Amino acid sequence: MSTSFNVSPFTPDTFFQQVLECTPIPISAVDLSGNVLFASKHHAKFKGCETLSVLGASEIHLYPQPLYVDLHKNIYPKLLQGEQVQWDVVVQHVDDVNYRYRLTHALCCDLVSQKEIVFTVGLDITETYLVERVLSEFRGHAHRTSFLDPLTGLANRSLFYDRIHRSLSRVKRGNGHLALMLLDLDNFGELNEAFGHDAGDVFLKKCAQGIVNVLRDADSVARMSGDKFVIVLETIDRVTDVESIAEKLLETVSKPLVINDCSLSTSASIGVSLYPKHGLTVDALLKQADAAMYRAKADGRNSFCFYNDTLIGTYSNTVLLENELQRALANNELCLYYQPQVSLVDKKITGLEALIRWQHPERGLLSPAHFVPLAEESGLIEPIGLWIVREASERFRAWLNKGIDFGTIAVNLSVRQIRAEDFVERIVGIVNDVKLDTKYIELEITESTSMGNAAEIISALSKLNALGFSLSIDDFGTGYSSLSYLEKFPISKVKIDRCFLSDIDSIDYDAAIAKSIISLGRNLSLNVLAEGVERLVQSKWLEKNGCHFAQGYFYSKPLSGHELSKLAGDAIKSKKVGASIYLR
Ligand code: C2E
Ligand code: CA
Ligand code: CA
Repeated sequence: MSTSFNVSPFTPDTFFQQVLECTPIPISAVDLSGNVLFASKHHAKFKGCETLSVLGASEIHLYPQPLYVDLHKNIYPKLLQGEQVQWDVVVQHVDDVNYRYRLTHALCCDLVSQKEIVFTVGLDITETYLVERVLSEFRGHAHRTSFLDPLTGLANRSLFYDRIHRSLSRVKRGNGHLALMLLDLDNFGELNEAFGHDAGDVFLKKCAQGIVNVLRDADSVARMSGDKFVIVLETIDRVTDVESIAEKLLETVSKPLVINDCSLSTSASIGVSLYPKHGLTVDALLKQADAAMYRAKADGRNSFCFYNDTLIGTYSNTVLLENELQRALANNELCLYYQPQVSLVDKKITGLEALIRWQHPERGLLSPAHFVPLAEESGLIEPIGLWIVREASERFRAWLNKGIDFGTIAVNLSVRQIRAEDFVERIVGIVNDVKLDTKYIELEITESTSMGNAAEIISALSKLNALGFSLSIDDFGTGYSSLSYLEKFPISKVKIDRCFLSDIDSIDYDAAIAKSIISLGRNLSLNVLAEGVERLVQSKWLEKNGCHFAQGYFYSKPLSGHELSKLAGDAIKSKKVGASIYLR
């Protein structure tokens, strides 16, 4: 059996024709008068039409009009000088899709006719081009992300170093000045713990935007780590310029932000160092700004501080301080002071608040503002917090054993402590160990902690309340909380923050707030305590306005355990007041 194929006889000409038919690229030859000598069928697609009759056609039919113009204007002159020319062009096919070709043109001499001929070959580079573009975008993105902080979009630490080095060289050349600021959010760790990391992220982004809005074009900002930002002010004429920017930054950062229907707010502490006054190198300036920033925190936060020589070695090294704090716990350098709380009716001591101090071997007695923020940030507050509960309980037990009853003992809790694993079990374990009835212990949480409303905080505090501990809300009035939050907590006391009391006799607004907190507390059958009472007029005002309890220097400063024992001992000895201790 034979099979016959209908095959054309092979000749170089037919082969060449087949190539021109089938090749998926434009190939053509034209003479210098513009006559097409041959062209591949693909030229039709290249030109953007269905078919193309090339025989006897003119070169203009091979190209889309604008391309043809370009070819003659820019390419032919080079070709005629003997160069081989390559260029990339974009053309639209009939399917309206853009294709990209790399055209190569060469001028050759036809030996038969002795005429010069332009040969053109076009490579379809559409796909290669797309892949390259994606790759280069990817590389650009990778480049950007290696210099930008992905959360806030600000420069990251590496870009900051790059920028500050350039800024410093510019400033050095021009004999100018430069200010470097380290801005660290206060209590951000607490806010993050209380409201969750997603809310924390949104908060950081908004803070970053706020900072950018305050700065001028010549200034730059980067996120150094967590909640720490570094700002470089390059063109400064006067120190007052730096101060006014620092003030604006503090104002911006402390504006409350509404996230997930909660109004969140924090403040910041800013440390400033100046070139050339405080240091000549980036490292020196950073170190000085860091020391100043810790001073601002120690001064009560929400403030800025310029570096000065007395700060050397004081707060400059956070890591050092952290190690020292760890050592302090082991070496019994931490101690508790106790501030009496009195009934406003008869000034009888009804409770004590335990306040931590650090008896530092070189620096003397340090107040909590110097180290509690660091303990919170580093997590050391967890073991320290447990130590506080044990120490306070043991001391209170010892007083009870001697027949001294101060009523209750309040301890301050940080949110990080409450969220720690086994928090409830550990506290209960300590109190059982010491054999102290839970009714004596009051746990103070700040208003911002309670606002966090996180399920685990509510659950831990409710468990403790069910076991007999009482709860009070500290610094009330400062945290923008609403009653609906408070209702979720089994609290028995609100403590009016001292900022509302300082001018209670002269500023109507403060008085109005204090009055409304008192009546709010009374309506909810809560005890109301006013903090920071320093003067007789405040005490009288509170009495008149129905506040139940008060605490402050007017009655007593925080006292050491020993001082309190003495006070109680004297009162008992004088037999004036039985086992109750009265102040004022
Ligand atoms: P706080 O809980 O609001 O404590 C009251 C602070 O006000 C205490 O400062 C106290 O000494 C001070 N104070 C009391 N009466 C007056 C007054 O009449 N006038 C003025 N100007 N101040 C008064 P301190 O002991 O320096 O504590 C500061 C903060 O440190 C506390 O504020 C609390 O937030 C934190 N803290 C203190 N002890 C502890 C603790 O054991 N654990 C935790 N987590 N935080 C603590
Ligand atoms: Ca407190
Ligand atoms: Ca307070």
